[in-house]
Amino acid sequence: MSKSQPIAVSGVRPTGKQHLGNYFGAVVNFVKMQDIFNGYFFVADYHSLTTHPDAADLREKSKNIALVYLACGLDPNKCALYLQSDVPQIPELYLIFNMFAYLGELEREATFKEKVRDQPNNVNVGLLTYPVLMTVDIIIHKAHKVPVGKDQQQHVEMSRDFVRRFNNLYKVNYFPEPEPFSFNDKLVNVPSLDGEGKMSKSKPDHTCIYLEDEPDVIRKKMMRMVTDSGPKEPNSAKPAIIQNVFDMMSLVSAKDTVQHFEDKYNDCSIRYGDMKKQLGEDMVTFLAPIREKINELSADEKKLYDILGDGGNKARASAARTLKDVREIIGLKSF
Ligand code: AMP
Repeated sequence: MSKSQPIAVSGVRPTGKQHLGNYFGAVVNFVKMQDIFNGYFFVADYHSLTTHPDAADLREKSKNIALVYLACGLDPNKCALYLQSDVPQIPELYLIFNMFAYLGELEREATFKEKVRDQPNNVNVGLLTYPVLMTVDIIIHKAHKVPVGKDQQQHVEMSRDFVRRFNNLYKVNYFPEPEPFSFNDKLVNVPSLDGEGKMSKSKPDHTCIYLEDEPDVIRKKMMRMVTDSGPKEPNSAKPAIIQNVFDMMSLVSAKDTVQHFEDKYNDCSIRYGDMKKQLGEDMVTFLAPIREKINELSADEKKLYDILGDGGNKARASAARTLKDVREIIGLKSF
């Protein structure tokens, strides 16, 4: 890591298997960023506690995220790869930042409202203060950029508000205001295969392409993508479900393949069965090296634990510097 490079922080929750949305919204950016940023990439295990996971299951899923990070190309010599819960400075700064977050703004936040709707029997306080913990994950390393998918944009905006509030309250210019980041022009949104919203770990298996899916499973899932009876007039606008299929194709297929189907759509000769078949094959080709690498890496657990141990050391060292400064700024300096 170099002192002169800007800092990037991001994480993925170990609440399920990694899917294409995690890959294109987050991990692919982490891999590109590690060469030009000081990257801190973590497994967001504290965040997953809001859904009360079984302990053994949480451990397994956390390990799996780290494996996926490595299989996708994160290099522990270039960045810090760690478990969020290995950094005790995070909960301390979280406690402090809870004082700068207001109930009203947290209650208005879109993801919180969605969770209240989806899991009315488990509206715990951790869900409400999720944006505060996420802010702390980012600012504990004084990050400038946060590589996330479109779904996290509002949370990063809130982080900017909290940081601004802190800097103003204590009349310091201590924390940079973090910005969402993607190498694409806009933040990526990978759609769910059923055409309803985004691909998500909390949706049924058949709506997600997992990075570990076997080729036949991928082919089947792609064939089940929802389409319609086809365009009736040349050059017509695409309905959202059809745009989803094209969006998915542009992630994994060659440009001329996408253009071929664009042309067919525009002259009304498109056959969605052919398009989905092609998409299935391209998806299989795209994911094969990642799946193979995950299998290869999972054979050496000791190496994985060493990498996470080392990443934890780097993350704690950086976090301790920030917390020391913050304690001093707010008057908690110990005597
Ligand atoms: P999560 O799986 O909710 O912990 O999200 C981890 C990262 O993956 C975050 O940066 C999200 O923005 C990103 N992500 C999750 N689902 C999608 C999706 N369907 N499209 C784009 N990015 C996503």
